[in-house]
Amino acid sequence: MAQVYIANCPDWLPRQIAVVTGYCVYEKKKNREIKNPKQIKLKNGRPAIKGTCASCGKAIFRIGKLK
Ligand SMILES: [Zn+2]
Repeated sequence: MAQVYIANCPDWLPRQIAVVTGYCVYEKKKNREIKNPKQIKLKNGRPAIKGTCASCGKAIFRIGKLK
């Protein structure tokens, strides 16, 4: 008799990567996906995220922390 077996997701599988979005000043559009997001720090010490707009390829930036 055949058995249906559902394996648990092993721990070594990569976790789903959360999409980071930001405001694109070139397109004036919100919620653009930030490619290659990097955690940076502003001069005033606040955390920010810098990357490339997935839509137009220009630099995109937002205030906040990468999770
Ligand atoms: Zn853009």
